[in-house]
Amino acid sequence: MVNVYRPTKLDKALELNAIHCATLFAGGTDLMVQGMTHYDDSDNAVVFLDDIVEIKGIELNNQTREPRLVIGAGVTLYELTAHESVPPMIKDAAKRIAAPALRNRATLVGNICNASPAADMLPALYLLDARVELSSPGGKRELAIEEFISGPGQTLRLADEIVTSVSLTLPMFDDYLYHKVGTRKANALTKLSILAGVRIESGIIQDWRLTFGAIGPTVVRNVEFEQGLIGQSAAILQQAETIDKIIDFYSQKIAPIDDHRSTAEYRRCAALNLLRRWLENIG
Ligand SMILES: Cc1cc2nc3c(=O)[nH]c(=O)nc-3n(C[C@H](O)[C@H](O)[C@H](O)COP(=O)(O)OP(=O)(O)OC[C@H]3O[C@@H](n4cnc5c(N)ncnc54)[C@H](O)[C@@H]3O)c2cc1C
Repeated sequence: MVNVYRPTKLDKALELNAIHCATLFAGGTDLMVQGMTHYDDSDNAVVFLDDIVEIKGIELNNQTREPRLVIGAGVTLYELTAHESVPPMIKDAAKRIAAPALRNRATLVGNICNASPAADMLPALYLLDARVELSSPGGKRELAIEEFISGPGQTLRLADEIVTSVSLTLPMFDDYLYHKVGTRKANALTKLSILAGVRIESGIIQDWRLTFGAIGPTVVRNVEFEQGLIGQSAAILQQAETIDKIIDFYSQKIAPIDDHRSTAEYRRCAALNLLRRWLENIG
């Protein structure tokens, strides 16, 4: 028999989870598809998180060196798309997930904790330097998203921890690209995605970031390479030599695979063509 709990307070949820090492159920849109077979063990418990008001907010935190948007673990994808402070790249990614009924249930944090290589919210979260807050009865800790997700379907969450929020920076970009390639525009899982942003001031590259989704075990981002472009004259982005160098760099970083959704060859070709098209049209 499975014990099912529906706490309304975070403290209670943390306590129950610590006692039972429970399955945490947010929107259930991944869990229900994965099936309930592993809950057959009588020691197992399911803790529903969707009645906990404390984790449903979206707030701007100005206390940190740069302002961060803090999104509670109970916030659904629909709520993200409807909130005025949520940056466009998060909204655009959320709007391309499944269909409205699912977006009314599914949470951002569920998408993170499922840690699928094809999870659509992850490229934007990597790009915005997201940090994941983990809480247990013993206290809180925070991990950068790229640390938290340790591999396909794997995270560094300990059994007695619940992810309580995710925070992100709010950079301004002059030019920004989000492209999800799926079999159709709506209700389609990702074959690959690309997200990129650039900010140029007084002819100098002030910010330049790029992530690829679904063409590696986890999201592909290389901050060191990005830093090499920042501070340089924006004119270099007009040069074929620079564009080729950028494409060559990322062609070595991505690791697409063949699966039921697409082929490695198609994914590689489409990803690099989208990158080239964006680079050739910046500004
Ligand atoms: C028809 C359909 C279409 C879909 N389309 C897409 C798509 O286009 N793109 C996409 O990326 N995904 C898609 N998904 C997958 C899914 O909807 C998303 O990953 C969603 O964001 C999961 O959120 P959830 O709240 O439903 O998570 P849940 O199913 O409740 O949980 C997912 C995992 O996260 C864990 N978890 C949840 N909350 C917490 C927490 N606070 N702390 C610790 N662990 C937690 C759960 O224990 C579970 O392991 C689709 C699913 C379906 C059924």
